[in-house]
Amino acid sequence: MKKLLAAMFIMLAAVSISFAGGGKEDSSAPLIGIAMPETHVERWQKDGANLKSAAEARGYRAEVTFGDADQTRQNQQIQNLLTNGAKLLIVGSVNEGVISAVADAAQDSVPVIAYDRIISNSADYDYYITFNNFKVGQFQGQGIEAGLNLKNATAANPKYITLFAGSPTDGNAFFFYDGAMSVLNPYIEKGVLKVVGPYPKTSADRANFTRIATENWQPQIAKARMENLLNNDARSVVLDAVLAPNDTLGRAIIEACLADAKYAAPGKLPVITGQDAEIGSAVSIKNGQQYMTVFKDTNKLAEAAVILADQILKGQTPNIPGAELASGSLQSIGDTGKKVVKAYLLEPILITKDNLNVVVDAGFYTDSEAAQLK
Ligand code: BGC
Repeated sequence: MKKLLAAMFIMLAAVSISFAGGGKEDSSAPLIGIAMPETHVERWQKDGANLKSAAEARGYRAEVTFGDADQTRQNQQIQNLLTNGAKLLIVGSVNEGVISAVADAAQDSVPVIAYDRIISNSADYDYYITFNNFKVGQFQGQGIEAGLNLKNATAANPKYITLFAGSPTDGNAFFFYDGAMSVLNPYIEKGVLKVVGPYPKTSADRANFTRIATENWQPQIAKARMENLLNNDARSVVLDAVLAPNDTLGRAIIEACLADAKYAAPGKLPVITGQDAEIGSAVSIKNGQQYMTVFKDTNKLAEAAVILADQILKGQTPNIPGAELASGSLQSIGDTGKKVVKAYLLEPILITKDNLNVVVDAGFYTDSEAAQLK
């Protein structure tokens, strides 16, 4: 027995030595700096970990920071990454205030890849990698269209909806909203769908957009706004749908609804949307609460971003399997307001109760997460 234990100990020691001695510790390997915006939305923790492991697998060193939805803090973190000798930065920005840090990187000839979120108002970088964000919004609109059977609804018996948008400091929030409204506006115009609360027809109506937007994607803000709506504007109607821009906010809105007697019984919740395929929302969809989500395979996004980084650092022309260089109308996704950067887009997938297996089969969840969906 003693011998067996000793052998096991030696094996364990060998395993940990071989990990420590992997490419990660090669201090001559070029450093990729990875600045993620926040941790309160689950996906970013995965993005940080995925980017780091994809970079290390290609022989780079990688350092990851999280900005806690605070731009000053994120700028400081980026400065530190530059001081530590980063040769390239992958930045999921908190907001457009990151442009000063990007300008500093440009001065040091350190290329920057905007990751998932565009860095607005900057001419100091060339690459952006994300999903087709307009399509993410279209899927949310289509989810509501199907969930309420709008194609067969009439103005004589209208459906009621209330609208939420993401953070006004995140360029993606505008694309999500405009994509969703491109599907919903025709029904609103026909009187088939009636909006309770503010109705920005598109995000260009900034005054009304701000009224439905959710600063820094904070769930407690969305929950409080939903509670307020239920007690005021939506008091005398039964809501049939809520446009929620992501899963974190969708679940906060569900919580507010469940606390209201009108929606508390099983099957009484409005059709509520989301995106990110967070496990909490996947379980909610399985249980018939949240109606849909949008699966953006962030494992693939991280992999694609690191392939792009590798090609840039090697002076090669980018050619990323599974990501399309935006062209035509989609080129606007890469418009910073100061420059149109090269935007590489991955495809999102619409998920409802009927195809949750797509997310599981993609290996997006851990085994214990996937077990919750059985
Ligand atoms: C991302 C979403 C995410 C949201 C809040 C957006 O920029 O594209 O996936 O839910 O930020 O973090």
